[in-house]
Amino acid sequence: MHLLRSRRDGRLARPVERSSTKPPHTHPPCHSESALAHTQAPKGHKNTAQGVSPGVSSRGKPLPAWAPITFHPNVLRRKCAEINPFDPPRIDCYRPMNLQCKPALAASYKSRSQIARILTEDWCARELYCAACSSNALSRTKTNAQTVDFFCPQCAQPYQLKSRLNAYTSKITDAAYEPMIRAIREDRTPNLLFLQYSNNWAVSNLLLVPRFFFSESVIEKRNPLGPGARRAGWVGCNILLGNIVPDGRISVVSNGIALPSKDVRRRFAEMRALSGVPPETRGWTLDMLRIVWEIGKENFTLSEAYEYADELQALHPHNQHVRPKIRQQLQILRDLGFLRFVAPGQYAVIKH
Ligand SMILES: [Zn+2]
Repeated sequence: MHLLRSRRDGRLARPVERSSTKPPHTHPPCHSESALAHTQAPKGHKNTAQGVSPGVSSRGKPLPAWAPITFHPNVLRRKCAEINPFDPPRIDCYRPMNLQCKPALAASYKSRSQIARILTEDWCARELYCAACSSNALSRTKTNAQTVDFFCPQCAQPYQLKSRLNAYTSKITDAAYEPMIRAIREDRTPNLLFLQYSNNWAVSNLLLVPRFFFSESVIEKRNPLGPGARRAGWVGCNILLGNIVPDGRISVVSNGIALPSKDVRRRFAEMRALSGVPPETRGWTLDMLRIVWEIGKENFTLSEAYEYADELQALHPHNQHVRPKIRQQLQILRDLGFLRFVAPGQYAVIKH
């Protein structure tokens, strides 16, 4: 079956193929993702979100920094066949997720962090799918793209991978502060993947935080590095994972079990309405959504929401009208499908 998606803004248009000759679960691991992962960017296209010119589409429109590298399906199939002529390309077939990384790929490396990067990036390129659409593969960006590691070849969603041996805590050390804040204000943050691997290099947990859940309230500025540091004065940031509502933390793998992709995609889709809120006001909406979670009731009143006015004032010190803002944000959450107005000053949480 071929489902051709329309080509707009120079983005990828390729058929979604499903094999009709074999039951889906009998497919051996395919290499189509690897083929995508090693493709080269079109001339002049700099696929990076670091402020470098992202280039222009074939129609002359500016491409977003994380724009995909696109190939015609026939070219993609040829590349797959070149890699392994005995494993015909199956671009979008379903197959169970294999959680084991391949340590042999990093046999020549000594650094634990380098080994982890190589193995977990390879795992994502082999096993991960896009949560935002039906694509069962993600493609790697060029190696110099520092904030985006993967993108969806079908819908262009950007993904950044973080991996570590230990479990993630509510505060995660991240990169430079200012570029992160700029990325949030310009709506350029990627979807974040927090991967935890085991001692024998199997993926034990994988958390996806959709890109529209990042606001300035979840970014904490760290103290500048001291004068003795190699990068003296450099200011980093922490991601306050605990400040993101549970709905914004989507489990893809939990305690060594891969969750069904349809559930992951459903949860992503349920939250996607937030991406329609302009980035300059989305922070308020996310803070209000978190407060609704903290109130923790199916039904709550405006008075209960007002109890968080001081906290919101601290998060938004330039706003002098916090109570009207609370009412406005509750209306926005209602319009987005998170709340229902029961009576004046009374709200009900809509469970997804
Ligand atoms: Zn996608």
